[in-house]
Amino acid sequence: MPNAGKTISELLIYSNEKLSAAKVDTPLLDSQILICHALGVSKTYIIAHSDQIVPDEKVNLILNWIERRSQREPVPYITGVKEFYGMNFTITSDVLIPRPETELLVSYAIKHLAGKNESFVADIGCGSGIIAICVAKFVLNSSVIATDISDKALEIASLNAKKLGVDNISFYLVDLIKPLHKQKYDIILSNPPYIPTDELSNLQPDIINYEPYIALNGGFDGLDLHRRLIATAPEYLKSSGMLAVEIGIDQSNQVFEMFSGAGFTNIEILNDYSQIPRIISGRVG
Ligand code: GLN
Repeated sequence: MPNAGKTISELLIYSNEKLSAAKVDTPLLDSQILICHALGVSKTYIIAHSDQIVPDEKVNLILNWIERRSQREPVPYITGVKEFYGMNFTITSDVLIPRPETELLVSYAIKHLAGKNESFVADIGCGSGIIAICVAKFVLNSSVIATDISDKALEIASLNAKKLGVDNISFYLVDLIKPLHKQKYDIILSNPPYIPTDELSNLQPDIINYEPYIALNGGFDGLDLHRRLIATAPEYLKSSGMLAVEIGIDQSNQVFEMFSGAGFTNIEILNDYSQIPRIISGRVG
């Protein structure tokens, strides 16, 4: 496509066709997001000014981004941001892209902690930091720890905390969990990797070719991390403290058994908006 004198609408038509041919799920929406982001304008703006000529250097950038998306690189890795729980998080290919299902875990935790005088919270495998940051921001008097085994993920998570004005989180490069100042937790939260290793190769190229393998791979049945966390969490929880984790499709029965086997009570399962059991929680003691 010759670059000079292109309008927004010509770029949208070109991009929509190219992304459709590349079998991207939402070609027009993705084209709009990339063009809006490159121009620093809203979707309303590009709709209302579709015949506006785009400056050449922006056209070059947009064509480069469209090319990347047509190779199935996810939009948030191209733009560097993803909206979650009403906030914009910085995202790089070192972290899992936040999924809307995880908003359920966050709102469940916030509701559970509302009204407490103070709350001690752990987010295990924090990735971009979404869970820890939302809870730290929306739960008054909360002290949060966020852990990950990836130092690059922790860098992104602490950058996000700073950018979003949250200063009540401590970040730790550890496997699973550690106590905060010998303090036990009111709630331990996690969205661990939960894709069975065998199924990774069936994932869309957008996911398997771009998202961090360690953030996706849950071991032979997808539940390696759940198994370890459910076994370890009770010693870190206050009496009647809660563990709440995200799970994948068809994992609720097995994870329910793990919770009850580890002595958790009041076990609850929450469905997502596709009616898939997605969050499971239990209390100790
Ligand atoms: N907690 C982060 C998220 O929910 C990272 C999860 C992960 O890397 N598996 O996006």
